[in-house]
Amino acid sequence: MAGRLRQRATPWYAVGMTTLKKFTRAVEDGPASERMPAFFVGHGNPMNLIEDNAWSRAWTGLGKSLPKPRAVLCVSAHWYVQGTYVHGAELPRTIHDFYGFPPELYAMRYPCPGSPEAAREAQDLLDGKDVGWDLEWGVDHGAWMPLARVFPDADVPVFQLSVDYTKPASFHYELARRLAPLRRRGVMIVGSGNVVHNLGMLEYERDAKPFDWAKAFDERVKALILDGDDRALIDYGALGEEAALAVPTPDHYLPMLSMLALREKGEAPSFFAEGIAHGSVSMRGFIYS
Ligand code: ZN
Repeated sequence: MAGRLRQRATPWYAVGMTTLKKFTRAVEDGPASERMPAFFVGHGNPMNLIEDNAWSRAWTGLGKSLPKPRAVLCVSAHWYVQGTYVHGAELPRTIHDFYGFPPELYAMRYPCPGSPEAAREAQDLLDGKDVGWDLEWGVDHGAWMPLARVFPDADVPVFQLSVDYTKPASFHYELARRLAPLRRRGVMIVGSGNVVHNLGMLEYERDAKPFDWAKAFDERVKALILDGDDRALIDYGALGEEAALAVPTPDHYLPMLSMLALREKGEAPSFFAEGIAHGSVSMRGFIYS
């Protein structure tokens, strides 16, 4: 299979890339037990920062339906490092971690504040998991690209949790389960990656016909999410060749698992975006609310 994978020396694609409803405004000052939604977004191509397409419109629409949280905790595929860290800066920098794109994208900023206070709460909930305190990272494009549509005013504090590449899928799932109480402390938890993400087989055209394996795996994952079969999704390596093609590396898949771990009893997922971009990138997004 590896022989079919195309490698670009300088990929054009990212590598290593309001109106609020009246009732939702009340949540900010509402009871502490109010449960914030948690959602997973398939972020895809950084051009989604500026393109008007089905996915960018879905993110905008999602934002209009959401309460305004005290803070957003984002688990982004692009903070994929050795070790688990929470980012605790007061003013996180906007990271342009993508290469070969139009200057317009590099001129963009997402000037959200951070939330050291909520980040400390997250770190406390993960006590015993050796979670480091980081002040260097910021907000990477996996986080700010969708958030620029969901919360376009950049007035919601954002902090990130890294994805430790040395740890298995079950570790990330368990870690997220420990963070679930944050949902009742006004924190909206967002996973950002892609259920199917094979850059080696990427087609140049956004609307290229999806590979059969990409579509099949994306639909398989949707069915397993609907069934609440977290175990099968954690053990995705056992899902056959389609899984191997769809998840050649786990970075973009793991943030999806984290969101599954956050649901409370009786919560059902709602899918707000779907489709395959560039033949090999699933744009599926879902929310528990
Ligand atoms: Zn990405």
